Amino acid sequence: MDTRRLTKLVRLKADELGFDGCAFSKADSLDNEAIKLENWLNQGFHGEMKWMENYFDMRMDPRKLVEGAKSVISLFVSYHFEENEEIDQNENSPKIAKYARGRDYHKVLKKKLHQLIDFIQKESGAIHARAFVDSAPVMDKAWAVRSGIGWMGKNGNVLTRKYGSWILLGEIILDVEFEYDGLTTDHCGSCTRCLDACPTEAIIQPSVIDATKCISYLTIELEETIPKTFRNSMEGWVFGCDICQDVCPWNRKSSFGNTQDLKPKSVFTSQSFSFWNTMTKDQFTHTFKGTPLMRSGYEKMKSNVTLAQESIKKG
Ligand code: SF4
Ligand code: SF4
Repeated sequence: MDTRRLTKLVRLKADELGFDGCAFSKADSLDNEAIKLENWLNQGFHGEMKWMENYFDMRMDPRKLVEGAKSVISLFVSYHFEENEEIDQNENSPKIAKYARGRDYHKVLKKKLHQLIDFIQKESGAIHARAFVDSAPVMDKAWAVRSGIGWMGKNGNVLTRKYGSWILLGEIILDVEFEYDGLTTDHCGSCTRCLDACPTEAIIQPSVIDATKCISYLTIELEETIPKTFRNSMEGWVFGCDICQDVCPWNRKSSFGNTQDLKPKSVFTSQSFSFWNTMTKDQFTHTFKGTPLMRSGYEKMKSNVTLAQESIKKG
């Protein structure tokens, strides 16, 4: 089929499947990103996330991940919902990042990506294609920037004009050609709100995050208890952190998302510290099954909540 027509059909199908954005890039090596990633790893900013050192070559070239790859399709859904405003205002509850308040986005996005692959296959015959959501070594943000979905904000998140940075990315790498999109412009300008607001000074320079200082890493990735040096800077966060996104002007005026599965579960509107204090492991599993909180697990979450309460009492 004609490349232009196929590109148009895939965009329409992505829209029909509920994606909030879809853009195309040529599958190529990420040379500039490779230098940046190497420097970042050499400085140890990835901490215990040793898996980030693996498969460096594959990470930098999608043609090493999918045989004969010609294109990368970047897709996203927004997780910005009105319900989050009520949750954010509840000062008696431990803070959980907005992306984690609904169903696990990996499952939600993967399903849609596979539906899109099936569609492309029907339109263009047998293809090699793989879908990725935070899983195999794919530089999702770099591809989103290359395809013009958004620009790399100083807070290290991809920022879109319509949905801000409240977006979850997925990719399809495949051996089909499309009409490719180009870069968009950077609209951070002279703003430094995210750098100024970060309580642990984890944004060490625009778009460069020292993950070992970042509350997201400390509350999710770090297996051991959060080190003492950070405990008074956690500001009540127990799973992830939205501070550098909440202060971003692009997020204040962003449109709401359409993916119902990502809407906050009712438990997040009613949770409080007392709710957490009495929670057993079984209750935790029952309550948060299918949400990203299962990734941290019961023991880590309880430890984070205890530390958050202690720091609030001290404060
Ligand atoms: S997520 Fe929180 S701790 Fe991490 S860089 Fe942003 S404001 Fe700082
Ligand atoms: S807060 Fe300002 S500098 Fe930071 S990402 Fe948003 S627009 Fe860019």
